[in-house]
Amino acid sequence: MANTLREINQIPVFRPLIADDELMAAESALKAGWLGMGSLVGEFETQIEAALEIDPSEDLHVVAVSTGHAALHLALLLSGVQPGDEVIVASFNNVADFQAILAVGASPVFADIDPETLCIDPDHLASLISDRSKVLIAMDYAAHLCDHEQLRSFAQAHGLTVLHDAAHSFGADYNGTPVGKIHDLTMFSFDPVKTLTSVDGGALVVRGRQAKQQLHEMRLIGMQQPSKVMYRNARAWTYNVERLGFRYHMSNLHAAIGLAQLEKLDVIRTSRAATYRRLIAGMAGNPLVRVPNPALVSRSPFLFYLRVLDNRREEFREHLSGLRIDTGIHWSPGHEFSLFQDVRRGPLNVTEVVAREIVSLPLHSSMDSDDENRLIQAVCSFGSS
Ligand SMILES: *Cc1c(COP(=O)(O)O)cnc(C)c1O
Repeated sequence: MANTLREINQIPVFRPLIADDELMAAESALKAGWLGMGSLVGEFETQIEAALEIDPSEDLHVVAVSTGHAALHLALLLSGVQPGDEVIVASFNNVADFQAILAVGASPVFADIDPETLCIDPDHLASLISDRSKVLIAMDYAAHLCDHEQLRSFAQAHGLTVLHDAAHSFGADYNGTPVGKIHDLTMFSFDPVKTLTSVDGGALVVRGRQAKQQLHEMRLIGMQQPSKVMYRNARAWTYNVERLGFRYHMSNLHAAIGLAQLEKLDVIRTSRAATYRRLIAGMAGNPLVRVPNPALVSRSPFLFYLRVLDNRREEFREHLSGLRIDTGIHWSPGHEFSLFQDVRRGPLNVTEVVAREIVSLPLHSSMDSDDENRLIQAVCSFGSS
């Protein structure tokens, strides 16, 4: 009994918005008699293209895959990264990025982050360049966007491909350009906790029909299955195999849930952005924490985070836990994992500080004002007892 009450009052860090739309979409996908990749995957890609306002003349194409990690792996292969090459990436990033780099036989090179956006700092990249550098990963963190203009010019000057990791910024825009169209190669994740979820799923946005065709083969263990046929819930029984591939395609069931979520994109991002603003305004008064700069919050925020100053993060997390509020840590930086001990890196001064201060608080797509107020009061009361 006490347990149940506790669970009811507990505010989790993530709470997926799964409603009747998703349940009905999943049921009809299950009853359609074609469970694998088919028409709904094609429809999901088309609807993502519409959400990103992609015009056919732009020659940008969305390719849905099984996870964000798969999208990163395929993106690096598509970029021609070879064993021994280097990929410049913020040490403050998701493990998925580091593992995708290892999966193609390349090495990550760790860069520091900007203290305001917590995204890769373009001013500290020059010393990381070598003649093996191939790709620069631009990952948008939480509610912030990278300095994409500066990253683009740096990459151009050094002959690098920019891989935009937009797992946190689906539905946001950068100086009026929808995220997904800023660079020629962008990945999204629709994993269980992301702003939009297909339970598991990911997507790439690529320029050129040839890149799209290559991805269609690579996500289907190299089989040259015409997507026109597959998107009619059918398949070719004879085909050629010409290149390396993986079982990375998306299934209709996942696409059905993704489609239902996509219809609510506006409701979801408007609600999250409004909650974000209220949390920042309500918590800014406590000098023991540092809230995100509201001027740098995108229209489609993913994570709500704070920085807890004076080495008091664990105390802060215990305080919130006592008030039945869950917290998380995104992330432990890559250079602290034993697998990456020997990775080449620049100075990581900001990363070192942020990694000790960062804490994720609950942010949901539909958070009621009672929960918002509980969060604000919990943070404001920290340190005052
Ligand atoms: C979630 C995430 C990924 C990986 O996506 P999955 O769908 O979980 O594989 C990659 N990069 C970042 C920044 C993420 O947050």
